Amino acid sequence: MTPFFDTHAHLDYPEYEKDFPEVLARAQAAGITKMISIGTSLESSARAVRLAETFPAIYAAVGWHPSEALAAPADLRPALRGLARHPKVVAIGETGLDYYRLPSAQNGSAADDAHYKKRQAEIFAQQLEVAAELGLNAIIHQRAAFDDTLAQLQPFAGKVRGVFHCFGESVARLEQILALGSLVSYTGIVTFKNGQNIRDAVAATPLDKFMLETDCPYLAPVPYRGQRGEPAFVKEISETVAQVKGCSLDELSAATCRTAHDFFKNLA
Ligand SMILES: [Zn+2]
Repeated sequence: MTPFFDTHAHLDYPEYEKDFPEVLARAQAAGITKMISIGTSLESSARAVRLAETFPAIYAAVGWHPSEALAAPADLRPALRGLARHPKVVAIGETGLDYYRLPSAQNGSAADDAHYKKRQAEIFAQQLEVAAELGLNAIIHQRAAFDDTLAQLQPFAGKVRGVFHCFGESVARLEQILALGSLVSYTGIVTFKNGQNIRDAVAATPLDKFMLETDCPYLAPVPYRGQRGEPAFVKEISETVAQVKGCSLDELSAATCRTAHDFFKNLA
């Protein structure tokens, strides 16, 4: 079994309440030796830390998702620092900007849009600041907000690296990310019939500049598309990515695991 890591999983979500031991057993059987449970709020981050304390193969990232920005405390930093000092916390996130569904698309006003974007930018800045302070890198979620996201990350270059998770942008944007010393990661979308643009991005990404993730419970790869995702499915993702890169599973395993160890502090 070739070992791989699931660098982005939402293991604290209620989708796993009923059969978590089986989910972990299937991950282990598929060779997925390490998993990072990603926080989307303080509560979710605390649950991720608790999972990391309980299960040796699980690590945690702590952060606040941009889509939940309106529910965030004015100053996220004190509580985030507290969580982030845990020895199994490997990164800050997920954090970033998401303009995909703005309030104006749901009967909101232009002022609502502006307020929502402002809150997202504020909590993103706070999280980058805590990451820099604690020497952690950041897991970046961006949707329909690439330029603004990059502009906020830019001043942190040399201090905080980002992984643009679920990367689905152009090769030109990939190059902008790599120029900042940041990375990308690829999900099950790489296996989708309509995922050719993602496979093109994979082909253009140097072997040492990306990681693999499921973003489970979302984005299950073929042949599980539409079902609940789980970390075991990194296996299917790795097979497609190895094919696209024209490398062996062993080479892909060595490269992506090395990249993860280098990017995620405390990933033992
Ligand atoms: Zn996520």
